[in-house]
Amino acid sequence: MTQRTLAENLARGLPTTSFVAGSWEPRSTSQTFDVIDPVTEQLLTTVTEADETVVDRAVSAAHDALDSGEWGRMDGAARGQLLHAFADLIEQRTEDFADLESLDVGKPGIEPRVIDLPQAVGTFRHYAGWADKLTGQTIPTSGYMGRQTLSYTVREPIGVVAAITPWNSPTMIGAWKIAPALAAGCAVVLKPPEDAPLTSLLLAELARQAGLPAGVLSVLPGRGATTGRLLTEHPGVDKISFTGSPQTGHLVATAALRGFRPTTLELGGKSPQIVFADADLDAAADGVALGVFANQGEVCAAGSRILVARAIHDEFVDRLAARAAAVVPGDPFEPGTTMGALINARQLDRVLGYVERGKAEGARLVAGGGRPDRSGYFVQPTLFADATNSMAIAREEIFGPVGTIIAFDTDDEAVALANDSDYALAATLWTSDVSRAHTLARRVRAGAVAVNGWSPLDPRLPWGGSGLSGQGRELGLAGLEADTHLKTITIVL
Ligand code: NAD
Repeated sequence: MTQRTLAENLARGLPTTSFVAGSWEPRSTSQTFDVIDPVTEQLLTTVTEADETVVDRAVSAAHDALDSGEWGRMDGAARGQLLHAFADLIEQRTEDFADLESLDVGKPGIEPRVIDLPQAVGTFRHYAGWADKLTGQTIPTSGYMGRQTLSYTVREPIGVVAAITPWNSPTMIGAWKIAPALAAGCAVVLKPPEDAPLTSLLLAELARQAGLPAGVLSVLPGRGATTGRLLTEHPGVDKISFTGSPQTGHLVATAALRGFRPTTLELGGKSPQIVFADADLDAAADGVALGVFANQGEVCAAGSRILVARAIHDEFVDRLAARAAAVVPGDPFEPGTTMGALINARQLDRVLGYVERGKAEGARLVAGGGRPDRSGYFVQPTLFADATNSMAIAREEIFGPVGTIIAFDTDDEAVALANDSDYALAATLWTSDVSRAHTLARRVRAGAVAVNGWSPLDPRLPWGGSGLSGQGRELGLAGLEADTHLKTITIVL
């Protein structure tokens, strides 16, 4: 049996309903959605969508776990042990997760094995370590009516967190939301993406095996406009942690405004990669290509705006075009494949639409520009040169394997171009000048700046953006604190 067939069997054997209050809901035929393999365009499985009743029960099970169950009374060290157990189970099933992610998302097998799964496991372990280290401060004051006081702060769980994830990296981004919330003592209701729900269903099964008390983590598959909307509008949800498009982010933020509930919004990007004349051009070409083509370009931090110093422009474009030509689009389960398929037919049309717009706007196609000769939602790795920052291919998030190259003359111009964007998520500088690296890293507007490497991921490093890229931070201590309320207590002595 091939690895693909094994993965398809694994997908068919997964539960296909909601996981609520520690058990799986019965299947229903009334409200379902199909999960399609983006490479074969065939049906993988049909999933029962969480309706209003199921959303209600998941939110109230989460409150029960917090208010009257053992979870609310559990100390941080015990929560940390559960998170470690959860991490161990995920790690043991790395191959299954990786195969499901390839099948569901279309990404080449190497990517979940070197990025998504190690990041997911590492995120659970990182926050397992934090669970018993959430402390407050003792703050001296000038007293109260002539009497001394003792004032201190404590961090309390924010409550029930609704976690909504996108289809490009559902396991890893799910871990980014679940792990800090559980470490902080919250309960989570996860709504995975309808295009790629499979690994989240496996995650639910492992939560049960790890011994998470009922209601602490519920997983509600469903479409955005139905289950997603019901969850974000539910008055029992205390915080919404959302990753997805700015358009949906706006709907989520609007729903959250009712009751002034806090949100973390991780939205899109149009991140610049700036290549200076003193860069190691081979290393930069490798890194820039990774930044544009990894995960088929379906990456929020994709370095899709490539700003190149005019002195090395032509040489660099040639090197980058050679990297694009060497990318092998194909079935994620075939050895040798280095780029997979886009998630669905709509995304394929959208990306091809941008390719046509790039041509119509007068940018020069130097690689790709169409579909490879095969079935599946594939787009060739594509590069446009001689572009300007006002073109749609430079301003709008394409979320596909399309890079836009723009020349610049001075450092000031590079910074101005980098900052001339509605997005501000990530940026990369390619230079061998330490002084330039530090100086410009501060001047470029982005939540994360990398020098001589594309967007390194690590659960210890805060992640997030501003503008259309969203608000708030995930990961690191910032991500943990975002799942807490800070309470001030004063004792008049
Ligand atoms: P999307 O906004 O269409 O969907 C994201 C999630 O929101 C899905 O689970 C979807 O079902 C749900 N949703 C849709 N409508 C909803 C509604 N009305 N109410 C509540 N939930 C709803 O985004 P997508 O197409 O799945 O993902 C691509 C986008 O995500 C890109 O813009 C990308 O940049 C962004 N993204 C950002 C990051 C980051 O960390 N900043 C990471 C990955 C992806």
